[in-house]
Amino acid sequence: MTTTEAAPAEVAQVEAPGWRFYDTVVTGTRRLGPSTVRLTLGAPDLAWFGAAGDDQRIKFVLPQPGTDISGLMVDGEDWYAAYCAMSDDVRPFLRTYTVRAARPDRAEVDVDVVLHGVGEGHAGPAATWAAAAVPGDRLVLLGPDRPGSGRMWGVEWAPPATAHTLLLAADETAVPAVGAILEGLDPGRRVVALLEVPEAGDEQALDVPEGVTVRWLPRSGRARGELLVPAVHAALCELGIARTDVDPDVEDVDLDAEMLWEVPDVDATAGCYAWLAGEAGVVKQLRRHLVTDLGVPRNEVAFMGYWRLGVAG
Ligand SMILES: Cc1cc2nc3c(=O)[nH]c(=O)nc-3n(C[C@H](O)[C@H](O)[C@H](O)COP(=O)(O)OP(=O)(O)OC[C@H]3O[C@@H](n4cnc5c(N)ncnc54)[C@H](O)[C@@H]3O)c2cc1C
Repeated sequence: MTTTEAAPAEVAQVEAPGWRFYDTVVTGTRRLGPSTVRLTLGAPDLAWFGAAGDDQRIKFVLPQPGTDISGLMVDGEDWYAAYCAMSDDVRPFLRTYTVRAARPDRAEVDVDVVLHGVGEGHAGPAATWAAAAVPGDRLVLLGPDRPGSGRMWGVEWAPPATAHTLLLAADETAVPAVGAILEGLDPGRRVVALLEVPEAGDEQALDVPEGVTVRWLPRSGRARGELLVPAVHAALCELGIARTDVDPDVEDVDLDAEMLWEVPDVDATAGCYAWLAGEAGVVKQLRRHLVTDLGVPRNEVAFMGYWRLGVAG
């Protein structure tokens, strides 16, 4: 998450942000390319939006047509029990997104939404809503409500201070997180970011520090991962992250039974750190390849399935 201005001075920093609902209004929309729209969302209390880290995730809370979600919007821990207790026909859709930028001085956040399946009859509720969003539309967000410090809920990017070499690999859904991470880096590290996106027109100009290489990989009709997997292989060899001196055993993740979300307690002395996010099947393929074939230590890599082909929510 890129934070352009400091939060108001009267907000005390806390160790872990609490979570709360923000009743926001769309204040702007901008197409970033054929596949993505940037939504700017405003609400007075976004001035106190938590700033826990660069890949800060939030939830969109999308009511089903004709339903009222105000009963859910209570602060504190109880909201999830209330959510689970709702019947299927009224329970709102919860979808996970990344805060691309926060401007607490203007009480605004930006969120970049991929418009998958829109106009093709298989878009989900979040992509459908975002594609039609216009200024004045309302969106309820669930997000952190205090500036925080350190590694906290909703943030996975956590390279050790010793890591001089960083690799980020992502599909279009994790481009917002990678953009925010890269823009927040201090110069002086070797960094390669590999971004597989649907079309060449989805490439974005990112304001990255010296030492960061960004490689855009437009699929242009190819299968998901077809460009990303070999590009990750090549980058690991180029950066010297691939190793032969570790135990290569890895048990596979059953994507039908569990999420692929393997975020290690990083080795605090590691020289390398990798962060991989995107479609779960592709991330699973990358995980097996990195750990088994290339001997990359698992405590130096975060593997995150951001979504799964054919599965909603
Ligand atoms: C930590 C985290 C951060 C995320 N950040 C972002 C972000 O900043 N921007 C963003 O756009 N997404 C982001 N995502 C991914 C997003 O949550 C999913 O794409 C989500 O499924 C979209 O919800 P939906 O209602 O549009 O579709 P769903 O109802 O969830 O899915 C409907 C159908 O669409 C398919 N589908 C879902 N997403 C895609 C896709 N991207 N391409 C093709 N098919 C798809 C599903 O497989 C399913 O078949 C993030 C996910 C996580 C876990």
